[in-house]
Amino acid sequence: MGEVRGPGVDAPGPLHVAAPVARAWAVAAATAAVRVPAGNAEADAWTARGWADVAVGCIALDGAGFAGSGLAGPGFTSPDRRMARRDGPGAFSGLDEVIRSIRVESGGPHAARLRQLRRLAGPVPAWYPDTRPVAGPIRGVREIVWRAADLVADFGEQLRAAAAGLPYETACPLISVRQLAWGVRYRPSPSEAHVTLRLPVNRRLARRTWMCLPGLPGSGTAIAEVPSTAAPMEQQIWRGIHEGAHLDHLSSLARLRRPLAPSPGEFGAGLLVAESYAMAVEILAAVECVLAGEGHAVWQLGAGLIERATRLPGGSNPAEEFTDLPTLAEVYVLGPLQVLSGAPASAVLPAELIRSLHDRWRAACAAYPPAAAFGARAAELVGPADTGPSRLTPCKNSPSWVPELTPRASAGRDPGPSHLAPQVGGLTLSRSAGNLY
Ligand SMILES: [Zn+2]
Repeated sequence: MGEVRGPGVDAPGPLHVAAPVARAWAVAAATAAVRVPAGNAEADAWTARGWADVAVGCIALDGAGFAGSGLAGPGFTSPDRRMARRDGPGAFSGLDEVIRSIRVESGGPHAARLRQLRRLAGPVPAWYPDTRPVAGPIRGVREIVWRAADLVADFGEQLRAAAAGLPYETACPLISVRQLAWGVRYRPSPSEAHVTLRLPVNRRLARRTWMCLPGLPGSGTAIAEVPSTAAPMEQQIWRGIHEGAHLDHLSSLARLRRPLAPSPGEFGAGLLVAESYAMAVEILAAVECVLAGEGHAVWQLGAGLIERATRLPGGSNPAEEFTDLPTLAEVYVLGPLQVLSGAPASAVLPAELIRSLHDRWRAACAAYPPAAAFGARAAELVGPADTGPSRLTPCKNSPSWVPELTPRASAGRDPGPSHLAPQVGGLTLSRSAGNLY
């Protein structure tokens, strides 16, 4: 397969989407961001993080600063008027409205990012979460996850050792489309149609750069081209493998459902599935890069596995971003083991994705015995005895894997996780449920 190019690949932001469409998207996305499979303090942190991700989409749709320059002046005090576009209130007005109706008092670093993004479009409304840490206890990481982390970190070390004996290739230029094109050969279900956005934010602020937005052609998938200070090969792996796998997943979901945006793969329980898949693709890509003799990529992929295993809350190199998000941090190490092992978790992914992933993984294991040994240990850890049967609730108009989660009446006064703690396949989503991606 050739280069990954979408029809709007060079489209500059902002997109040309009618204000009411942008606003409706933001309301739907911000509401989806509230439905997290966790309770109380963790739910507040997760919700604020999701809203920050929505704000990135709002910048893409509204454009940064438009409201503060042309339309707003000293006389403008109403938030709604501040957010008025020439054709009506846009995406940020929708995000503002949801945040006003579902109050989250504080969100720590996630709220700081949300506020920073919102400021690009004008003054931050008074009801936005503040940057104090979330209030309440956060559970510890589960025992099975520590065992998964050991397994993943060990494999990362093996990969780095293998890399030493392989050719050391030069990284791609720092151009999204080139990095994604490189990754096509290592992604089992590469998608082609996506729009590249240029946004006035860096990678640290944007965080989640992959998304589904309204008004785009094809599957509605978009990727933000954002500056980063990370090493070129690190950026190549993020974009070409991990985020590329997210785009592949979103594209696959888009073939199964309407509307395209927001996608269930972007928020809450759906995001856990998405990260499980992207990490499984990273592990597959690491083995295939060994076989292809791409030593530099192998080293970086190995380092990425070690990072995900050690950044867990309470781990040896904990990441601030995940201090209050144990459920999300856990899925990067346990999720891919479940997906690769064919544990029930894999049944929540579109069949076309899981089929090609498993075919490629079997071939990789046959060609590279350390991968087979890793796979056997993974299967032993997450075997069906541990994961139990899938208890997904099929929804009308949705693929059967979309879990039905009851939205919280109000953040901070969550009645408890029991009503939104189903299992998504083998992923136990309990309350007592990155680095960046
Ligand atoms: Zn990710």
